[in-house]
Amino acid sequence: MLESVNRVLVSRSALAHNFGLCRRQVPSAAVMAMVKADAYGHGMLECARVFADCGAEAFGVAEVVEGVQLRQAGFVQPVFILAGVLPDFFDALFEYDLTPILVDGEFVSPLAVKAASLGKRINVHLKVDAGMGRQGCLLSDAPEIVGRIANQKYLHLAGIMAHFPKADDPASGSSERILSDFLKMTTGLGLETARGFSLHIANSGGIFSVSGSGLDMVRPGISLYGYPAGGAGSGKGTAAEQLQPAMSFTSRVIQARVVPAGTGLGYGHTFITKRTTRLAVLPVGYEDGYLRSLGDSAQVLLHGRRAPVVGRISMNLTLVDVTELGDVRSGDEAVLLGRQGKESITADEIADWMRTISYEVLCLLGHCNRIVYTD
Ligand SMILES: *Cc1c(COP(=O)(O)O)cnc(C)c1O
Repeated sequence: MLESVNRVLVSRSALAHNFGLCRRQVPSAAVMAMVKADAYGHGMLECARVFADCGAEAFGVAEVVEGVQLRQAGFVQPVFILAGVLPDFFDALFEYDLTPILVDGEFVSPLAVKAASLGKRINVHLKVDAGMGRQGCLLSDAPEIVGRIANQKYLHLAGIMAHFPKADDPASGSSERILSDFLKMTTGLGLETARGFSLHIANSGGIFSVSGSGLDMVRPGISLYGYPAGGAGSGKGTAAEQLQPAMSFTSRVIQARVVPAGTGLGYGHTFITKRTTRLAVLPVGYEDGYLRSLGDSAQVLLHGRRAPVVGRISMNLTLVDVTELGDVRSGDEAVLLGRQGKESITADEIADWMRTISYEVLCLLGHCNRIVYTD
């Protein structure tokens, strides 16, 4: 079967290496591998297989449908639905043995009624907003909701979680305050010594930068895929420096051509050549997740060297100035993300050119392209 010239490559050994690095940071905590968003663009089922082989104790996804896919693929680990669950999806929770995160008291009774009607007890976790300011119940409301869950014979409160807003910014002191408030509240409940109960708060930033945040379980996402949570350099001085980016994105030169000085390049002529210019045309564009905001700013690797993107990115075409590189030809490999020879381009670098974060770059490229797995 013919396939696109453009492809995303994902290294299984890098995923496994990153999982091991997270594990060693918090050896006594269980690891919930975050595989939401199709494993941050790396492919949910393939990545879950790697993490399961590494001993992941649980998986985290955003929505019920993702959990169902994991079950249908045969995964038996606990699967947590992190973004909350609407009653329309309750049946699927029971059918596929998924663990919902309750975000407040709204669905405690409806879920208990459903569980009773099926005669099945279900584990739930409660999401507390301990300072993230996004989703969950206020710390002050948590004890009452915990009490309501405890009163339901068919519900079992198996955990309480919170989330850090600034785990990648140790200087703020935010994470230490949130961790302390979270532990004060949960200690007050006297629940944390119960068997089969887990407290969890740490995302990647927490694992590498917030000491004591490992608790019973951790929820690494971006670090499993090889990047520090706070962008380039944010993991300095921590084990996060040893993370290995798992994703590469490659294309091939579809045309090599020479244009004279003074040529306006592409839509809008945003770039006008100042010299006789050798161009490599790549059949890649914003349709492939290589966004228009990369025009006139990104760099790509050809022949192991960096070369600048010139002019606007089109839907399916991108121009690279390879005048300095010598004899670039049609068919040559271009690396837009990843390593070629001694040079490499990271998702953090692309994120800077796009004014976003590595997470978004990885999701975009992974969602828009064919993924090939390497060992
Ligand atoms: C996505 C997510 C994580 C993982 O965060 P990273 O910064 O990618 O490690 C952890 N916890 C929750 C609740 C999340 O939604």
